[in-house]
Amino acid sequence: MRAHPAGPRHGDPIQSGVPLRPDSAEQALALDPRIWPETASRQADGAIVIGGVDVRDVAERFGTPVFVLDEAHLRAAAVHYREAFSGDGVRCQVYYASKAFLTSKVARWLVDDGLRIDVCTGGELEVALRAGVPGESILFHGNNKSSGELAGALEAGVGRFVVDSFLEIVRLAALAEDKGVMADVLVRVTVGVEAHTHEYIATAHEDQKFGLALADGSAAEACRRVADLPSLRLAGLHSHIGSQIFDPAGFEVAARRLVGLAADLAGEGLAVGELNLGGGMGIAYTSDDDPLDVSQMAEAMIAIVSGECHTNGLPVPRLAVEPGRAIVGPAAITVYTVGTTKRVVLDSGHARTYVSVDGGMSDNIRTALYDAEYTVTLANRISDAELILCRVVGKHCESGDIVVRDAWLPEDVCPGDLLAVAATGAYCRSMASNYNYLPRPGVVGVRGGKTEVVLRRETLDDLLALDPGLDPQDA
Ligand SMILES: *Cc1c(COP(=O)(O)O)cnc(C)c1O
Repeated sequence: MRAHPAGPRHGDPIQSGVPLRPDSAEQALALDPRIWPETASRQADGAIVIGGVDVRDVAERFGTPVFVLDEAHLRAAAVHYREAFSGDGVRCQVYYASKAFLTSKVARWLVDDGLRIDVCTGGELEVALRAGVPGESILFHGNNKSSGELAGALEAGVGRFVVDSFLEIVRLAALAEDKGVMADVLVRVTVGVEAHTHEYIATAHEDQKFGLALADGSAAEACRRVADLPSLRLAGLHSHIGSQIFDPAGFEVAARRLVGLAADLAGEGLAVGELNLGGGMGIAYTSDDDPLDVSQMAEAMIAIVSGECHTNGLPVPRLAVEPGRAIVGPAAITVYTVGTTKRVVLDSGHARTYVSVDGGMSDNIRTALYDAEYTVTLANRISDAELILCRVVGKHCESGDIVVRDAWLPEDVCPGDLLAVAATGAYCRSMASNYNYLPRPGVVGVRGGKTEVVLRRETLDDLLALDPGLDPQDA
């Protein structure tokens, strides 16, 4: 038996994994530009300003917890990706993986900046379409798309369907035939590469729900079936190997294996026009993280695909990538208000201060779910008080409700202070829940001194309206 990694860890707090104590109070307040949004800085009185807006004003106007999204950062990241992957003569399309965080404004900004949108449910598809994203710029993936979702996507003229099973190939073909349309299909290939932050594992088989295996011939067979069906067109191959990846070697192995499959298929007369290498590019959550350089990674991926294609005598296909976290993750922060603090003396004699904020696992499940690490700092003032080891926790009835496991905060941190947690743009609001009937936080875009609601804060009335046993008159 192993304790859940996100559960409370008792004992000596000075253990591996605890970040080093900053050298000074000043250092603890510094905003590492690799972690914080591009336009974030601290003004003279210590308050953090993003996009020209003081986070204290955002907190006051919109309440906390609140996500503050740096529009300039988000859009610069999109442009950076698009440019990095449009190297000499190579055609590449960048799809934003909308599950990281999607609203109509975000979709419009990114499409205006030249990205396409990747969705994996009818709900995400609906937001993208209503935002005005053209169907042909949308890619639809997922291991269990319903007939209803597929039919809706066909009607919307979705540009790419990533099929994930033999059953789905038949289902999609029948729906397309009914509607008298052709669907462009990528086959999701499980290439036998599993990549996480610092390492990747290359095996033949993968024991997971996504994709059709390269190793046992399922992927090739799926391509043949797609090519044989009159209402489907084989557009290419798709692979997605993991998330929060720092080691480019995993992408390289996946790219080689995909080109190998494309070469085999070419031998049977099946042309593969597009290779989609998926997303998963890592970002810095703490100063210890050293993510991939986008331009270098793009160059390496392009070089591998063109090199392997030349070796195999294949024309170089169009490339596609699907970053989600890398586009939106670093662009937003969460601002919380401190409610209580509590000093807990541990058996070892050390002490830890629990700092409770007004959100928690309902707006950031990643710490509990993945043992994720985050950077947190005082957001409303400076302090030269001594730094103490803290754990920033939420207000939920769950001891695993931890936002930041280990943080050095000034000893005078107190109720009413604002704390900012960096790099919460991806998979925080999009994975948010209403646990304990907490309304989900809003997302406020900031730019040039102006604020713009990107997603409204939920109200208790929004939640109560779902309960038919409550009379709306009582509200
Ligand atoms: C989740 C996902 C992505 C995006 O992953 P990030 O880690 O956010 O870059 C891209 N493609 C597919 C198929 C995914 O499932």
